[in-house]
Amino acid sequence: MKKFSIAMLSMLLAGSMLLTGCGGNNAQTQTTDNGQDESNAAQTGADYKLAVDGTLTMATNAFFEPYEYYEGEEIVGIDAEVGKAIADKLGLSFAISDMEFDSIITAVSSGKADMGMAGMTVTPDREKNVNFSQTYATGVQSIIVPEGSDIASPDDLAGKKIGVQQGTTGDLYCTDDFGEDAMSRYSKGTDAIMALTQGKIDCVVIDNAPAQKYVEANEGLKILDTAYAEEDYAIAFAKDNTALKDAVDAALGELIADGTVQSIIDKYITAD
Ligand code: GLN
Repeated sequence: MKKFSIAMLSMLLAGSMLLTGCGGNNAQTQTTDNGQDESNAAQTGADYKLAVDGTLTMATNAFFEPYEYYEGEEIVGIDAEVGKAIADKLGLSFAISDMEFDSIITAVSSGKADMGMAGMTVTPDREKNVNFSQTYATGVQSIIVPEGSDIASPDDLAGKKIGVQQGTTGDLYCTDDFGEDAMSRYSKGTDAIMALTQGKIDCVVIDNAPAQKYVEANEGLKILDTAYAEEDYAIAFAKDNTALKDAVDAALGELIADGTVQSIIDKYITAD
């Protein structure tokens, strides 16, 4: 099956700082007060509900540089900054709840978190469980191989051991295309990369922006010029919280229109 287009991967060289250590654990919540008065929900007439009154809580997996990652104890990155800018526009404080990637949709649909923002690709299956905002970024699924690998294009993946981050689109697409037996699943992209450098697997299929970071940080790895799939990233909401989705979509639309989102992306992803 080819339900997605094969795209030429533009070889972005990400110039921003490399992650030097992951200081956090998997259950961390990071909160930032906004300096303003109470939530402006009343002022704007908004009727959405929130997990914590006056706070917009974003569920993520903070091992996905440059979208979300730890700098010391703090979670930073494109999603962290765009999420905070949205909260500011809505007059809300902002919290990030860090969890496994494949727990995010459950956290959002059960109302434990208000929105899922994790470089998350819009897929028809996910749309059965959550509603998505407009797209705020695009990604592609890249293939990372050791230098000298005989894998030169997605067609060469047949019969290979493929490493992915559990529950991501790389996992879903490769399982569909190459079968269960081909797959080695890891809870973090970094663990998949470690297995690749140790020769336990033949390649890693993962989003291009973290792929660039991994290849910069690990000698002897390269990204194939031909990518595996093109994708749109968006924010996930509980099906029954359309009022919040509408409010966030309006704020996000303004942040896209005034260039804020692009300037945040440019801060973390530098094209040469
Ligand atoms: N874009 C991929 C997905 O949505 C991976 C996201 C991630 O690992 N944070 O499945």
